[in-house]
Amino acid sequence: MQKKKITIAGAGLVGSLLGVYLAKRGHSVKIYERRPDARVNLLDGGRSINLALSDRGLQALAKVGLEEKVLKEMAIPMHRRVMHDVEGNLSYQPYGQEGQAINSVSRAGLNMLLMSEAEKQGVEIKFEQACLEVDLKNAAATFGSEEKPERVEADLLFGADGAFSAVRGAMMKTDRFSYSQQYIEHGYKELEIPPGPNGEFLLEKNALHIWPRGNYMLIALPNPDGSFTCTLFFPNEGEPSFESLDTVAKARAFFAEKFGDALALMPNFDKDWEENPDSSLVIIRCFPWTRNGKVALIGDASHAIVPFYGQGMNAGFEDCFVLDRLIDEYGDDWEALFKAYEIERKPDGDAIADLAMRNFVEMRDLTGDPDFLLQKKIETKFSKKYPEKWTPLYGLVTFSPNVRYSEAMALGQRQDQLMAEIMNMPNIHEIWDSEEVEQRMLQLAEKL
Ligand SMILES: Cc1cc2nc3c(=O)[nH]c(=O)nc-3n(C[C@H](O)[C@H](O)[C@H](O)COP(=O)(O)OP(=O)(O)OC[C@H]3O[C@@H](n4cnc5c(N)ncnc54)[C@H](O)[C@@H]3O)c2cc1C
Repeated sequence: MQKKKITIAGAGLVGSLLGVYLAKRGHSVKIYERRPDARVNLLDGGRSINLALSDRGLQALAKVGLEEKVLKEMAIPMHRRVMHDVEGNLSYQPYGQEGQAINSVSRAGLNMLLMSEAEKQGVEIKFEQACLEVDLKNAAATFGSEEKPERVEADLLFGADGAFSAVRGAMMKTDRFSYSQQYIEHGYKELEIPPGPNGEFLLEKNALHIWPRGNYMLIALPNPDGSFTCTLFFPNEGEPSFESLDTVAKARAFFAEKFGDALALMPNFDKDWEENPDSSLVIIRCFPWTRNGKVALIGDASHAIVPFYGQGMNAGFEDCFVLDRLIDEYGDDWEALFKAYEIERKPDGDAIADLAMRNFVEMRDLTGDPDFLLQKKIETKFSKKYPEKWTPLYGLVTFSPNVRYSEAMALGQRQDQLMAEIMNMPNIHEIWDSEEVEQRMLQLAEKL
C-alpha cells in the first residue's frame, strides 16, 4: 500500500480517532486544530461535559486497541433510565438486556486521550491553526491566521472540523453539492449537580436520569468525581422557553415547580443558569461527502444530528471504522474508496438524523403516554424471552453495531406496524402479560 501524506482539519473526537486509524496504516498524518491544546489549557473552565458512548463507538475504538483503555479510565456504565416525575417519584427502564449499558464519558477527557493516542502513533497535531481556505482539486488547505497563513499540500484532505466545517464550506461552492441546515425549536443549557460532602453521588450512579415533561426535558449523566452534568432541552421561544425565563428568579421558580428534586441538588443553580450559554441544536445534511478522490468529510462535518439518541460521536467513530474496512477492500484506489464510503454512509447518516429527532419526542414524553409505555413493556418482555426474534429499536441502534442505522430504522418501522396490531387487541392493558399476547407476538415476529 502506498503511504500517503494526509491532512486532517479538526482534532475533535472524530479527527483524532481518524488520525489514529490512518497513522496505524503507516500514512503520514498531520492534524490542524483551530483551538489551543486542551491538554495545556483547560478550555471549559473545569466544567465536565459528558457524552454517552455505546457499542458502535466502542467497536471503532476496539479496532485500534482503545476500547478497554477508555472503558477502564473514564467510563461510567449506565444500565437504565431513571425517570423522575414532577413529585419526585422514580420509575425505571433498563436500556437493554442484562449486562448491557451505555457509558458516560467526559467529552474533554476522551478527546485528550484520543489526541495523545494519535500522537503516539506518529500524528503531528498543530493547534491554533484554523482552516481558512481549501483547494479541493489538490487536497491542499490554508491554515493559521490571516496574518500568518500556511498552505499545506497533501495527497488527501479530511474535513473533521465539525458541524460548521470549513472544508464543507469549500465543497458548498462546487457544482451539485446538496446541503441543508435545520435549527430545531429547542436549545439546551448545561447545569450541574455536584457531588455530596464525601464525594458521593447524590442520584443513582449507574443510570441516565430523565425528567420528561412533555415538550421539554432535563437529563443527567454521572461523572467520575461524583457530580452529574445536567442538560435542559428546552424551547427557545414561547411559553415556557429560554426567552420567557429571562431572569434567574423566574428560572428558579420554574425549576422548583417542574424539577423540584433536581433543583434541591443544585446549589450553584443561579450561577450556572446565568453563566452557561443557551446553545442551539442543528441538523446538517449534505452530499456528496467527497470530492475528486482527494477530499472527504467525516463526523459532524458530514452529518450533524441532534443529541437525543446519544449517537453523534458514535456515528462519527463508525465512519472511521467503515472507512478502515474500505481501505482493506480498495487498497490504493482512493477515488473508488471515497465513492464507496459516501454511498455506504450517507443513508446511515440520514437514518440516525431522523431517529435522533424522533427519540426526542419519545424521551420527553416517556411518562406521558400509557399506551407508549405499555408497548415498550410488551416489547421488552418479549425480547427478553426471545432475544433472537425481536430486538427493540433502541437496542438495534445502540447495542447492535452489526446492524446499520438505516437497517435499524427500517426494522423499527416494521416493528411499529406489528406493535400497532398488538396494541389494537381488545383489553390490551389487562391482557398484555398473557399467553395470548405472547402467541400473537410470536406470529407477528415471523413477519419481520
Ligand atoms: C448537547 C450535546 C450532547 C451530545 N451527546 C452525545 C452523546 O451522548 N453521544 C454521542 O455519541 N454524541 C453526542 N453528541 C454529539 C457529539 O458531540 C458530536 O457528534 C461529536 O462531537 C462530533 O465529533 P466531530 O469530531 O465530528 O466534531 P467536533 O466534536 O465538533 O470537533 C470538530 C473539531 O474541529 C475543530 N474545528 C472547527 N472548525 C475548524 C477549522 N476551521 N479549522 C480547524 N479546526 C476546526 C473544532 O475546534 C473541533 O475540535 C452531543 C452533542 C451535543 C451538542
